[in-house]
Amino acid sequence: MSVQLTEDQQGIRDLVRRVANEKVAPRAAAIDATAEYPEDMFALLRELGLFALPLPASYGGMDSVVAACIAVEELCRVCYNTAYLLVVQWTPFSAILAGGTQAQRDLYLPKLSTGEMRACFSVTEPQSGSDVAGIRARAEKVPGGYRLNGAKIWCTGAAVADIILLAARVGGADERGVINLFIVPTDSPGLTIGRKEPKMGARGVPSSPLFMDNLFVPEENRLGSEGRGFKVVMEAFNKARPIIGARGVGLAQGAMEHAIDFIKSRHAFGQNVAEFQGVRWMIADMAIQIAAARNLVYQAASAVDGGESGAELAKLSAIAKCHATDTAMRVATDAVQLFGASGISDDYPINRYFRDAKVLQIVEGTNQIQRNIIARTLLG
Ligand SMILES: Cc1cc2nc3c(=O)[nH]c(=O)nc-3n(C[C@H](O)[C@H](O)[C@H](O)COP(=O)(O)OP(=O)(O)OC[C@H]3O[C@@H](n4cnc5c(N)ncnc54)[C@H](O)[C@@H]3O)c2cc1C
Repeated sequence: MSVQLTEDQQGIRDLVRRVANEKVAPRAAAIDATAEYPEDMFALLRELGLFALPLPASYGGMDSVVAACIAVEELCRVCYNTAYLLVVQWTPFSAILAGGTQAQRDLYLPKLSTGEMRACFSVTEPQSGSDVAGIRARAEKVPGGYRLNGAKIWCTGAAVADIILLAARVGGADERGVINLFIVPTDSPGLTIGRKEPKMGARGVPSSPLFMDNLFVPEENRLGSEGRGFKVVMEAFNKARPIIGARGVGLAQGAMEHAIDFIKSRHAFGQNVAEFQGVRWMIADMAIQIAAARNLVYQAASAVDGGESGAELAKLSAIAKCHATDTAMRVATDAVQLFGASGISDDYPINRYFRDAKVLQIVEGTNQIQRNIIARTLLG
């Protein structure tokens, strides 16, 4: 790792690695197979105080996106879904930090940092995922607040959350990107959380559609000044993307470790599979890609911690997210190949890594969108 870890960060890594191996890894297969929300893992993360990691010290945190990446990497090495519990909480936290008033920060961040309150983030709509500026859910100004109407899909964590940071259009029908995020309690009248989406990956944390029918949101629950929420969403994404990259690094590391264990115990043509040069080079290529991805992720996370913002952070974060999650997919694909038929069998863990890796190339901005961001900073 090119970034020198502080003593505290090394402590986090050692603690989370130990807990991941001892308590999380044994649960990973069942969480995936049953697709049931892992309350026990949420409680474990709370007990360890991990939700606070990226929060400012004034809210009991370490103020360190690097530390957040370390925790996510170590957890995702053994269980994508448990790592996801942290990430689902942290995108809303980023948005509240980026666009919240002092009163909003004081009200929500302490509870989010302990896990006493659960949050999630909803931008995607049936007709608009990558095109955030084109969302159609409408927030109409009324006395004391707004009336929200429309539909969302793929809101991960909504079924268990206390609040949703929900994006809606405050501008006219033909105005793109004139939007705000609204902090919406999940028990608000007018909000319906639909049936959870059956998923190939990320199965342990439910993703649901949302329906807003004259949902009233008071003015004090609007994040950022009216119509300027697009910037808040983008800033939240830029700061959260290194953490998505860390999921890719951890997943790839775990898949490589499983592949190494498997080929060392498998024999063909009178020798150990791990002795074939073609196989050895596949492992070497995995290690090269993971090392490069890890460096990019921690470089981007350090940039967030160092106060970098704007186009430079957008580029660094997009590069890290894109490379790390493409690496996760490549490594998981090759790992399945090295397992042979066992790679396809549900009796082995590796196809879970493969299915979860695919999700990473799509969420928090697809990897095509990341390439658009990178190209825009280079080409205008
Ligand atoms: C497991 C999971 C959890 C999710 N959780 C959440 C959540 O909690 N909250 C939330 O708001 N959303 C969530 N999403 C939604 C996710 O953010 C979107 O799926 C993603 O942004 C892509 O949007 P889309 O599916 O509408 O694809 P589209 O935007 O319709 O894109 C379709 C294809 O076209 C490509 N494409 C689109 N525009 C361009 C372009 N300009 N240049 C090149 N290629 C382009 C895309 O990359 C993709 O390959 C989740 C999705 C999944 C799978």
